[in-house]
Amino acid sequence: AQEWHLAARPVGRPVTGDFRLVDGELPAPGEGEVLVRNTFLSLDPYMRALMGSDLPDMPVYRLGRAMTGGAVGEVAESRAAGLAPGDLVLSDLGWRTAAVAPGSAFTKLRRVGGVPDSAFLGVLGMPGLSAYAGLTDVAKLREGQTVFVSGAAGAVGSLAGQIAGLLGAKAVIGSAGSAEKVEYLVDELGFTSAFNYKDGEVRTLLRRAAPTGIEVYFDNVGGEHLEAAIHALNNGGRAALCGAVSGYNDQLSAPGPRNMIELIRKRLTLRGFEVADHAHLRPRFADEVGRWLAEGKIRFRETVGEGIGNAVDSFVGLLDGRNIGKMVVRV
Ligand code: NDP
Repeated sequence: AQEWHLAARPVGRPVTGDFRLVDGELPAPGEGEVLVRNTFLSLDPYMRALMGSDLPDMPVYRLGRAMTGGAVGEVAESRAAGLAPGDLVLSDLGWRTAAVAPGSAFTKLRRVGGVPDSAFLGVLGMPGLSAYAGLTDVAKLREGQTVFVSGAAGAVGSLAGQIAGLLGAKAVIGSAGSAEKVEYLVDELGFTSAFNYKDGEVRTLLRRAAPTGIEVYFDNVGGEHLEAAIHALNNGGRAALCGAVSGYNDQLSAPGPRNMIELIRKRLTLRGFEVADHAHLRPRFADEVGRWLAEGKIRFRETVGEGIGNAVDSFVGLLDGRNIGKMVVRV
């Protein structure tokens, strides 16, 4: 089996030399254990934080050890109750071709017709639930509101925009980093409008897209986008702070929004959230999003890196914006 180790903590943008692909023999599964061969690995922006060393409340990657991350795979051998060869499972044992671990490390999945197994890492998985929880539990989106989503062509953003529309938003505006992505948002995903944030000042571009302001902001990006959204939010508006990817490779934290005073004047609510705290929504999410998928009301794309050897390149590509939709690696 092969697995990726963190060899050095990246400084700024990660480079190939920060990682090492290691070959090794897996032990036979012991009593209560399972051998799983991964078929898809998830690449997610939060992994960049785990490559650093200064997260007091998160288990950062250890040097010289296999990195973890979402993965779907098939059970090859099982000595655990409830899991049999051929079962499709989800685990946090990504960045490797196969793993031997206790049965409790794996969640059994039921295949859904018409969607690839990788969807359990994207539209039907953690990113999908993040979009759903952020709009419902956190931003408390109501019908008739105008919503702005940043990072809109990514895994979370592309779903947040579509779900906002399905929940009755009056207009959904998206921002992304290329003309191709902007076209995808409007032509394929049905966003009301979208802009390329590299075309000018976000504040100006957003004002042009939403001349009467917005009620909800779904933030994947932070930085200049957050400041612009605070400016565009109408009285009583709410922002769900999901991520701040514009700063993940920064060596020094960027200054916060300069217009926090607007929170007071306009009685705004900015609320950060972790998807893990919204697990209670999972059944409703699975029902509702599963139905929308089956009815063709939600569309999704994936950007697929081929082979475990391409995982690092795909991860760097994710932070560079090379993905449309969810970034995964086919093992
Ligand atoms: P994406 O699929 O959106 O991939 C990351 C994207 O970030 C890239 O495609 C790129 O798109 C964009 N990006 C990179 N640099 C910048 C920049 N300087 N300014 C604006 N955009 C940039 O990733 P996910 O959908 O998986 O995650 C989206 C966000 O949600 C991340 O911030 C992530 O950390 C967060 N998240 C938070 C969770 C939670 O529980 N709170 C759970 C899951 C995700 P582009 O070409 O448009 O620049």
